[in-house]
Amino acid sequence: MQTKVWIDGKLIDKADAKISVYDHGLLYGDGVFEGIRVYHGRIFEAQAHLQRLYDSARAIRLEIPMASEDLLAAMEQTVQANGFTDCYIRAMVTRGIGCLGISPTKCPRPSVIIIADKIELYPRELYQKGMAIITASVIRNHPNSVSPRIKSLNYLNNILAKIEAIDAGVPEAILLNHEGNVAECTGDNIFIAQAGKIYTPTTADGILEGITRKVIFRLCQSLGIGCVERTLQRHDLYVAEECFLTGTAAEVIPVTRIDGRPIGTGQVGALTRQLTDAFHAYVKKVAEQGSAH
Ligand code: PMP
Repeated sequence: MQTKVWIDGKLIDKADAKISVYDHGLLYGDGVFEGIRVYHGRIFEAQAHLQRLYDSARAIRLEIPMASEDLLAAMEQTVQANGFTDCYIRAMVTRGIGCLGISPTKCPRPSVIIIADKIELYPRELYQKGMAIITASVIRNHPNSVSPRIKSLNYLNNILAKIEAIDAGVPEAILLNHEGNVAECTGDNIFIAQAGKIYTPTTADGILEGITRKVIFRLCQSLGIGCVERTLQRHDLYVAEECFLTGTAAEVIPVTRIDGRPIGTGQVGALTRQLTDAFHAYVKKVAEQGSAH
């Protein structure tokens, strides 16, 4: 069976799923997107993803040409059409077809695209062993430039950091912000553990407010683990006992080495394991209860 892609209301075979070279999503990275997981046939944290998509669109003055209930139904339709029970959804809204000039006023209709497919961000064994990462020399976009809170189609900032990671022979990189404090990784939020508590940078530190990050907050609350949003310096990472990353595609992945330095014992930490297990148990529970959205 051919993979089907949803484009502006139609399910189209992957080979024919194409957009115009005049779409400003391609010409200028003008658009927004979401990455969403489907577990056991249910869209995980659907409302949170829809909210962030519509907020991102609002922040770039883009009107999504459909109601969020209809977008949700279209995502469900795309997943079903491809026969998936567990997959990753990429939902995109581009500024649409316009002229060779950046003005969005020349783009009368935004395009909505939904892909359902498999994703594997990091090799499976790193979830057991832990991952080595680096800090990139490129900094995260200044919040007063393109806010990292916007999940925009322009990921060059993140891609440049990813290339640094690849050049250094590791799968991921940390971006510091314009003040030199820790922001996030190229597609994941970062957490550390210290003296029984976990810490993660604040929204004001210039991050995408991850939905997996918020799930971790809730899990910490129910497990009685202290979880603090706080500005972190690279020093805090270097002296942390544990470190892990969270993201829709990545889920929860341990970090055991940063810039060549072992974090804590250099092994996956106990809190990281506890939260990883709790995350997978939670995902299973909401899928079974049907309360994921
Ligand atoms: N930061 C960035 C830059 C990302 O691209 C992502 C992935 N969407 C995240 C953090 C993690 O966010 P979420 O948990 O919502 O996937």
